[in-house]
Amino acid sequence: MQEIRYEDLADHLASGKDFIVELGEQKGIGSSSLLVRKCEKTFLIDRGAAFEGIGTNKITTFPVGGNLEEIYIDLMIFTHVHADHILQIVPTVLMHGESRVVFSKKTLEELKIVLADSLSIQRKEAKKAYYSGLPAPKAEFNEEDVATFLARAEAGFYEIVDTDEEDEWITFEDWPGWEFGFTFSGHTKGAFISLIKSPDGDGLVFSGDLSGHNQETTRGVKTLSESFLAMAEFRKCRRIILVTEATNGNRDIEESQEEMDARLKAVLNETQRKGGHALMPVFMVNRGPNIVTKLVRLGFKVFVAGGVRKTLAVEVGADIVEKWKADGTVMFIENGPNYSSQIKAASRGEYGFRPIVTSSATLDQGAGVEFAIEMLPVPENVLISTGHRFDGSAMKEFFEIKNRPIGPGHTIVLNRMDRDFHSVKHAVNVRCGGHHFDYSAHSDRKELVAFTTNLNPDIIFIKHCTEDGFNGLESALRSELREKCPPISRARHLHLFEF
Ligand SMILES: [Zn+2]
Repeated sequence: MQEIRYEDLADHLASGKDFIVELGEQKGIGSSSLLVRKCEKTFLIDRGAAFEGIGTNKITTFPVGGNLEEIYIDLMIFTHVHADHILQIVPTVLMHGESRVVFSKKTLEELKIVLADSLSIQRKEAKKAYYSGLPAPKAEFNEEDVATFLARAEAGFYEIVDTDEEDEWITFEDWPGWEFGFTFSGHTKGAFISLIKSPDGDGLVFSGDLSGHNQETTRGVKTLSESFLAMAEFRKCRRIILVTEATNGNRDIEESQEEMDARLKAVLNETQRKGGHALMPVFMVNRGPNIVTKLVRLGFKVFVAGGVRKTLAVEVGADIVEKWKADGTVMFIENGPNYSSQIKAASRGEYGFRPIVTSSATLDQGAGVEFAIEMLPVPENVLISTGHRFDGSAMKEFFEIKNRPIGPGHTIVLNRMDRDFHSVKHAVNVRCGGHHFDYSAHSDRKELVAFTTNLNPDIIFIKHCTEDGFNGLESALRSELREKCPPISRARHLHLFEF
């Protein structure tokens, strides 16, 4: 292993050696972007961006190398729609006309929503800067770039696989000896695991983000299926090199899905009994549609606001959503002049007992803030977090307050944007209850170990993890495999590994 400077990457690419190097993940988990050199071809797996800090202090971190202008890329793979893996897809793909590009059909569907959302955030940020007398923040891509990219995707410029429906192996006539395999990863709709079989007989596996357990809208993937591997005789590879994520490498799922669902149902029933209402801020991709589906399955009616209104149809199916809306199971907030009055009405239960599912999960921006201002001061209400509580977020602060003994000063400050795009601080008195449910979309330690040992790799690289995540998975693999354990390394930012 050697730690390199990005400026020296070109020399390494010219060296003729095979290697991997992570260009993102400056802080462990963050923007993901892995560069792979194998048999004189260069592959890029993901090009994301990560958001750190909160509210007005939020900064975006990118992988190094801009759009990798000076590098010839042979093939790019985008594993799934989450921003930390894909947000830079538009400028990267447009910069690299020479490259083949692979992503999934569902990823493209969700990308349309996510890219429109990020353009709208960009416009708001620009207006905010204008009214504050600041220069507009530099945009990484504009409306025209997005339109060009989407038009090319529709026109068949890229390899679009439908891994939610079937496993796929791709070959290219002009690349003899290469095979590329894609299979669903269980993490979110459209997410896949990527396999590359190279002409020298080596096999590479990139887990992407992975879930070994079921969610409401996706089935878990415990191991790679033998029939998929057999399609390319992958087990016969000279060596198998695995690059895996380890977001939950140091965690074992403590509460089963069934136990969590029962606890959620009890909390909601008790809230209803007391005459209160429930607010559930979520990320619009994956978690939002999962929670709405879960609530419906548990027998609740739901009020939906924010971007979840768009992702729901893509992840659950437009027919089902139409049916839910028609029979009143699910209600959407409507944009327009009555928007604010609907927020108040839903918060006060004027549409009946309907948990409110809205973005954003951190409570740092978006529709969730408007509901929180209405709902947090009411003792009978509950705020329910269903995912990771990010450090420094208003959501995390809320739970820190809840854990303190009762006393004065239980106030959190939420940022909202007023009509003139001024950011306004709003102090909210916190008197409602709070509950956390850890519905993770990532494999836990046991699931990561089961996936890895089943594949039986000769070399393991662990990435997309904290120090603790790496140590957790590494020690679990060593104690499981003992003397048979292959070499394990942590593929950190700008650490280059030849293999
Ligand atoms: Zn993800």
